[in-house]
Amino acid sequence: MVTDNPPSCPACAWPLTPPASCHPSSEGAVRYVRCICGQWLVLQRDAVIGTAGPTAFAAP
Ligand SMILES: [Zn+2]
Repeated sequence: MVTDNPPSCPACAWPLTPPASCHPSSEGAVRYVRCICGQWLVLQRDAVIGTAGPTAFAAP
């Protein structure tokens, strides 16, 4: 899959801010980004692979 779109928050769809931290791995750089909505996002090779922590947008 190829995408030219920058990653955005799955919770609020806001474009992601620069990563707070970056960790090289054999699968590609893993980056942690904190969105303006408070959601922590885990990115790998510019794709959101997970979230961490609470978000006000979480579905019940
Ligand atoms: Zn967000």
